[in-house]
Amino acid sequence: MLVTDGIHLIDGVKGAHSYLITGSHTFLVDTGMPGQEYKIIKYMNTIGLDPMLIEGIVLTHYDIDHVGSAVKLQNYFTCALYAHLLEIPFIIGQQKRYGIKRWLPTLTRPIFGRLNLPKEITPLKDGKIFGDWEVIPTPGHTPGHIALYRNGIAIVGDLFQGGEIRLAPNYFTWDKKMLKDSARSVTERSLRWILPGHGPATPASSHWLDTLKRTLNS
Ligand SMILES: [Zn+2]
Repeated sequence: MLVTDGIHLIDGVKGAHSYLITGSHTFLVDTGMPGQEYKIIKYMNTIGLDPMLIEGIVLTHYDIDHVGSAVKLQNYFTCALYAHLLEIPFIIGQQKRYGIKRWLPTLTRPIFGRLNLPKEITPLKDGKIFGDWEVIPTPGHTPGHIALYRNGIAIVGDLFQGGEIRLAPNYFTWDKKMLKDSARSVTERSLRWILPGHGPATPASSHWLDTLKRTLNS
């Protein structure tokens, strides 16, 4: 589904959303659960996009429902994977995920298959990637969570949930204070669209933005 400005929310991907960014640079943000690579490639065929145009895959954070199909897609596109430096040890399996997330790859394996661990990830620095997309470190949900921002559009991973935009739930939050600080750093910007990992892509509205800002300041 085309959302806006050449940004597609890929239909039918299980787990978190995978976004396809097209235009002067073509890349993916997040990859859903393991086993979703065919849906993502099929979607590109449907819209007539040459998969070989994919320049890279940005991972907002280490959760299995975001990184699940990253290795298969990386191999298919022969492109780089990108994530924040602090997140890389978790994604490649050097460091254990926190809390229940440690067990999710095992618990979900009978349904989705094995989580393949990437061997190489390029660290994202604060600043720009793929032209004018800004990398915003947004720790809180996980230590090295990032959001991408350009021209009023924020791709936020699990910083917010879509619909009535809210903070991600506490029980999956690594550091609540950091989550709020990160949310502030995004809501301070001029916003037209919030593209979350879960829930609908959401046009910015003063109604929920005001409510959210009140929550952040409480
Ligand atoms: Zn998450």
